[in-house]
Amino acid sequence: MMNTPLLLTSFIHRAEKYFPQKQIISRTLSGIQRFTYSDFVKRTRRLSSSLEKIGMEPGIKVGTFAWNHHQHLEAYFAVPCSGAVLHMVNIRLSPEHLVYVINHAEDKILLIDEDLVPVIEKVRDQLHTVETFVIMSDERSLPETTLSPVYSYEELIEQGDENYAFKEDLDENSPAGMCYTSATTGNPKGVVYSHRGIYLHSMAIGLADTLALSERDVTMPVVPMFHANAWGLPFASVWFGATQVLPGPGMTPAIIAKLIQDEKVTFTAGVPTIWLGLLKELEMNDYNISSLRALICGGAAAPKSVIRAFEQTHKVPFIHGYGMTETSPVATLSTITSSMEGAVGEELIDIRAKQGLVVPGLEIKVINEKGEVPWDGNTMGELIIRGPWVADEYYRDERSKSTFKDGWLYTGDIATINEQGCIKITDRTKDLIKSGGEWISSVDLENALMSHEGVFEAAVIAVPHPKWQERPLACVVLKDAYKDSVSKQELLDYLAPQFAKWWIPDDLLFMQEIPKTSVGKFLKRALRERLQEHFIN
Ligand code: ADP
Repeated sequence: MMNTPLLLTSFIHRAEKYFPQKQIISRTLSGIQRFTYSDFVKRTRRLSSSLEKIGMEPGIKVGTFAWNHHQHLEAYFAVPCSGAVLHMVNIRLSPEHLVYVINHAEDKILLIDEDLVPVIEKVRDQLHTVETFVIMSDERSLPETTLSPVYSYEELIEQGDENYAFKEDLDENSPAGMCYTSATTGNPKGVVYSHRGIYLHSMAIGLADTLALSERDVTMPVVPMFHANAWGLPFASVWFGATQVLPGPGMTPAIIAKLIQDEKVTFTAGVPTIWLGLLKELEMNDYNISSLRALICGGAAAPKSVIRAFEQTHKVPFIHGYGMTETSPVATLSTITSSMEGAVGEELIDIRAKQGLVVPGLEIKVINEKGEVPWDGNTMGELIIRGPWVADEYYRDERSKSTFKDGWLYTGDIATINEQGCIKITDRTKDLIKSGGEWISSVDLENALMSHEGVFEAAVIAVPHPKWQERPLACVVLKDAYKDSVSKQELLDYLAPQFAKWWIPDDLLFMQEIPKTSVGKFLKRALRERLQEHFIN
């Protein structure tokens, strides 16, 4: 067989050749903008040529500090297709982590959204490797800034060469992109994606048995483009020629709902808190979201109440996906196989609430101290993964040793696996509640609480306990309409028939909101720190 290299350049050639009139719809600070793929490829070529003039060379890191929009998509291709490496910096990192990741990756050029410039200005003095800044705005003129030397993105586009030739002689194993995990402890860890890894991951999410992404789709990643490549949607959508909707800065549930309705989005992706917010919006106002053929929810366990509302009330198939920054990210999906076909009602919700089957191309195992756990849907163990779009190390990081062992990625996630091979994530190792030598799944308790009609959000954490080492403590945000009517005892009584007695939280606190990580997951570490004395005093 021919050994043609698996490169991102082939994605862009296909889009240019076969789908020049398909659209990219981008929401920016000045409103909705529409581009064709033909425009996109020309602009991408121009960007590559201009970035080379201001210092981009093969192998160097070019950072982006941006929302989801067309310019970010152009950088997604302009940088790797010229042999450089795109580092998608998380715009919500703390200043300390922001400085760490940019210095650690050794970004030389930084492309920054106009509205995010003040964030970079504040840390500019601590950035040791950045030599050049580019400001992305819809205007050619530059806003006031202390950053220097600084260029206008649109001016670079204007001055660039529309016939720029992408690098076709790259090694498929050469780096194309980088994301850092949004560290819950310590500094973020860097993951480098190769052309080959992105190519195979994109192919995998187009399969009929996975996400079935295709040219006929209108895709909208709500998940940020700096969070594990927006789960691969932008890459695959360009390759397949799907229409893309990029929802831009400061997305609200209302903006998301309106974009789905107006642009007839067929496929969208985001973390559970996004879908919780969207459901609330759909309850309050009328939208037509019937164009959605599916949505994918990942990054954290999706509460059954959310799955039920989409599947049953809104008739939107809800694909629960599991993955990590380290796995590009898609690893397992709760898709329906022939043996599950016909499942209705709660049976279907149960299938969707699991993280599902591993996608073709990857291998998984769930292991404990005795080896692989039985496929009984009950025995817990650590999930390990390997495959061609799974990282084999963290970028220049000592911590690689404890995660990558014997050719496997140790995920740090606790899972069970059932007789069909579907996995269910019961917890992150660090969130698991270890009470009197037994394990309690915080995720199961949270999901049960969130299925109560009065509960908006719930996080259950392990809190030190003098007798049991740790006990569960529930933190609950009530829906506005239930703030005066739902009591702590009512919620504990609601849990009682669903769990063994020793699983029931020893206490339950009402809060205004649950703190979130930079990618919208519950920040349980913050709750643990705040509440660690709770059962001791
Ligand atoms: P971070 O580690 O910064 O949170 P990632 O997005 O890479 O960033 O997080 C990966 C982790 O998210 C997994 O290890 C797992 O704990 C959790 N996760 C991802 N998808 C799911 C899911 N569908 N259900 C439960 N947990 C999930």
